[in-house]
Amino acid sequence: MVKRVSILGVTGSIGMNTVAMLKHLGGREAFQTVAVTGGANIAELAVCARDLGAEIAVTAYEDRLEDLQAALAGSGVIAAAGEQALLDAASRPADWVMAAIVGVAGLAPTLAAAQAGATVALANKECLVSAGGLFLEATKKAGVPVIPVDSEHSAIFQCLDANAGRHPSKFILTASGGPFRSWTRAEMADVTAERARQHPNFSMGLKISIDSATMFNKALEMIEARWLFGATSETLDVVVHRQSIIHSAVAYSDGAMIAQLGLPDMRTAIGYALTYPERADLPVETLDLTQISRLDFESPDEARFPSITMARAAMDQSELAGAALNAAKEAALVAFIEGHIKFLHMFDVVAEVVERLTPYAPARDLRDVFEIDRTARHLAAERITKLTA
Ligand code: NAD
Ligand code: MG
Repeated sequence: MVKRVSILGVTGSIGMNTVAMLKHLGGREAFQTVAVTGGANIAELAVCARDLGAEIAVTAYEDRLEDLQAALAGSGVIAAAGEQALLDAASRPADWVMAAIVGVAGLAPTLAAAQAGATVALANKECLVSAGGLFLEATKKAGVPVIPVDSEHSAIFQCLDANAGRHPSKFILTASGGPFRSWTRAEMADVTAERARQHPNFSMGLKISIDSATMFNKALEMIEARWLFGATSETLDVVVHRQSIIHSAVAYSDGAMIAQLGLPDMRTAIGYALTYPERADLPVETLDLTQISRLDFESPDEARFPSITMARAAMDQSELAGAALNAAKEAALVAFIEGHIKFLHMFDVVAEVVERLTPYAPARDLRDVFEIDRTARHLAAERITKLTA
C-alpha cells in the first residue's frame, strides 16, 4: 500500500535525509508525498517538491510566494506561503509526517499534522520541550503514535521496544560533548559561530550544531526524555561519550543495561521511524566493533556547561519551564549567531530569564505556552541589549 507522507522542514538536514530515505525505500512507488515545507531556501524546496511529486509546497515566508510559484511553474505542484498555509498543508490527510522544522516554530504545524491523523516521526524536539504534556495529550486524542527521531531517543525507544511493559530504573542519555568538550571557559569565551558549528561527529543544521557546543541540545533532550519516557531528574543520567557510538541506553534493576549502538548517522533513526515496527535495509554502514579501539565516558562538567543543570531543574517543573528555557535559548542563540553576544553569554541570558520566570504555573493550553515563549524572548532581548550596550 502506498504510504502518504509529508515532510515539514524538508530543506533542512533531517528533511533532506528523509527525502533520501524515501527514495531509497521505494520512492514514488511506495510513497505519495502530500506536503513539503521549507523556509527561505526556495530553490531547494522546489527541487524536493518536483523530485517527490508533492501535492503542495509551502514556504514559511509570505513574501516568497512568487519566487516559489516561479520555481514550481509547470510542475503541477501547488505553491503556497505563510503561517496559515503551512498549517493548512500540514493538515492535509497523510499517514506519516516527518516533523523536522527547527525550533518552536515546528510546534503548531506538527500538531496540525497529528490532529489530521498522521503518525508523527519527531525530529523537532521543541514540540516536547515547550509543550510536552499538551502535545502528547493531543497525539493521544488523535490516536497517532509518536516515534522519536532524535538519535538518543530513537535509541531508548528501540531499547524499550525490546522490553515492552518493563520500567527501567535509569535512562542513560549519551552526549558527544560537542566541539568544546574539553575546552576551558576562557578558551570558549571568544569562539565564533563558525567555529562552534563544527560538530565532532554529526553533520546537522546550524542551530542544533551550536546547541551541541553549549550542550543546550542535551538540555533540550533531557526534557524531551521526560515527556517521551517519563524520565525524571533522578532517573536520567547524562553521560559524555565523545565517540557517539552508544546512542543511549536504559538500565533495569536486575543489573542489566541495554544500549543501542551504531555509527553516528541520522539515517538509521529516520529509516526506523519510517518503517517501524519493521526494520528496513538502509544504506548505512554497519558498525565494526573491531575497528573501534575504545569507547570513553565521563560525567558532564556542569560548571562549564550549566545548560545541563538548568535542564535538570526544568524537568521537575511544569512544561512552561521547558517553554521558557527553550525560548530564551532560541533568542540567545540567534543573538550569538548574529554576533551580538559572546558564546558564554548564552548561558547567562538563559539562566537569568529562567530564574526571573520561575515558578511556573501548569500550562492550560497552547496559549499559555506561546505567552511564556513571548515573555521569555522579551526578557532575553532586554538582557541581550544590556550585554551589547
Ligand atoms: P535545519 O536548520 O537544517 O533545517 C530546519 C528546517 O526548518 C528547514 O527546512 C527550514 O527551512 C525550516 N524552518 C526554519 N525556520 C522555520 C520557521 N520559522 N517556520 C517554518 N520552517 C522553518 O535543521 P535540522 O538540523 O534538520 O533540525 C531539524 C529539527 O530536528 C530540529 O528541531 C533539531 O533539533 C532536530 N534534530 C536534528 C538532528 C540532525 O541531525 N540534524 C538530530 C536530532 C534532532
Ligand atoms: Mg540528539
